[in-house]
Amino acid sequence: MTNKKPAWLSQRSGPAAGDISTWSNWTGDQTCSPRRIERPRTVDELSSLVAAASAAGEGPIRVVGAGHSFGDIVGTPGVLISLDHLAGLLAYDEVSGHATVAAGTRLFQLNGLLDEVGRAMANLGDINVQSVAGAMSTATHGTGARLGNLATQVVSLDLVTADGSVRTIDDGDELMAARVSLGALGVICAVTLQTVPSFRLHAVDERRPLEETLLRLDEFTDVNEHFEFWAFPHTNQALCRTNNRTDDPARVRGKVASFVTETVLENKVLDLVSQAGRRFPSQIPRLNRLVTRAFSETDRVDVGHQIFSSVRDVKFTESEWAVPADAAPSMVRELFSVIDKRGFDVNFPLEVRFVAPDTESFLSPSWGRDTSYIAAHMYRGMEWEPYLRAVREVALAHDGRPHWGKRHFLTAAELAPKYPEWERFQGVRRTFDPNGAFTNDHVGRVLGGIA
Ligand SMILES: Cc1cc2nc3c(=O)[nH]c(=O)nc-3n(C[C@H](O)[C@H](O)[C@H](O)COP(=O)(O)OP(=O)(O)OC[C@H]3O[C@@H](n4cnc5c(N)ncnc54)[C@H](O)[C@@H]3O)c2cc1C
Repeated sequence: MTNKKPAWLSQRSGPAAGDISTWSNWTGDQTCSPRRIERPRTVDELSSLVAAASAAGEGPIRVVGAGHSFGDIVGTPGVLISLDHLAGLLAYDEVSGHATVAAGTRLFQLNGLLDEVGRAMANLGDINVQSVAGAMSTATHGTGARLGNLATQVVSLDLVTADGSVRTIDDGDELMAARVSLGALGVICAVTLQTVPSFRLHAVDERRPLEETLLRLDEFTDVNEHFEFWAFPHTNQALCRTNNRTDDPARVRGKVASFVTETVLENKVLDLVSQAGRRFPSQIPRLNRLVTRAFSETDRVDVGHQIFSSVRDVKFTESEWAVPADAAPSMVRELFSVIDKRGFDVNFPLEVRFVAPDTESFLSPSWGRDTSYIAAHMYRGMEWEPYLRAVREVALAHDGRPHWGKRHFLTAAELAPKYPEWERFQGVRRTFDPNGAFTNDHVGRVLGGIA
């Protein structure tokens, strides 16, 4: 770890915005009323306010990115910091392809900035509104069996620790701890990312029998750079998506077609169908079969980040589990069987994705193994807890590790044995935050207190 002051430290960025006094997440089911919500405009301002808040013991200091996590990971009665004003490209190195961005930069802004210099992120998740720091801090991932999660693209970062000092972290245990850290080490104010030359993707969406898909998973994940599928309970079909790099010219949906597919079918119709299922749960199997049949099989070519990200307007809550990749078929079959046996009303699909083994972040759920991420969702306003607890049991039986940004119900005592380098993470945490200034209830529960 070096303790040098980054050159851009006093740079201002981002527009002014009005004050807010309460905060809620994207789903709208987590709220908090901190004693203060701070929106610093410079890193100097940020470091002064962190130093003052921790010296005064003003309660947990937490950072919110885009608020797109589920559960209580962000909330605090203390000081909540938004970095929306710390956004933008700070430096770009043509030779290495390293791009440094302010930590509050949203992924869609990042994609636009990288487009301008002919670069891109090697992989992305399925939405683009998260902040760069928020996405990496929970190991947000896309799909691609040979590609790591977003945090693996982090080369270095600048962190404001509890005493207000700004540290550049570019090596060793500090970096391995800081890439995926749930906001428990301090406030990340800048991130340097390894980018790749920009690329186009050939995207094919098609329906396949679920059982065939499960039996051929190795083949699909091997021959495709990005493969994923969704499967609605009570159906026997998988909605498969493959994305592969191509030099073919762009072949995109027209404005009307993309409005119909993305806005109307994937959001408005899905919302209406989900509302119908919430009102008439006994109809959910029929509705799920209907949605599966209505899935539009498409074939298109576009810039990578346009293909990766979709608009998600339909609100839900979610759990997602990282299991060994070869456990995916068994886990999907068992989840479907549990849904049937226990009569859960589930009108959202399981989503199944693949991620390369990670050796870059101590708390990466894909640490050390080929990983399949399996996500279960519940539409807003429907009873989610019994279902997601049942999903947890199946995931644990498959040696699952939870996505840090989603619901999982596990405690530090249950999580520690799942992470071979847990203690090395805790060592860095004790150094950076000896008094637990960044430990809210959630962090205390899942990472433990500062010993
Ligand atoms: C509709 C939807 C789609 C999603 N799709 C995917 C997907 O495809 N793949 C996937 O893996 N996940 C996905 N997620 C989950 C999401 O990517 C993660 O929860 C992510 O962490 C959210 O980023 P955020 O910027 O909203 O961070 P927040 O939710 O605001 O914060 C997440 C964590 O990061 C910390 N944090 C934020 N900024 C900083 C900072 N500057 N310094 C220190 N700590 C910080 C927070 O304190 C918190 O601990 C999705 C979520 C939703 C709602």
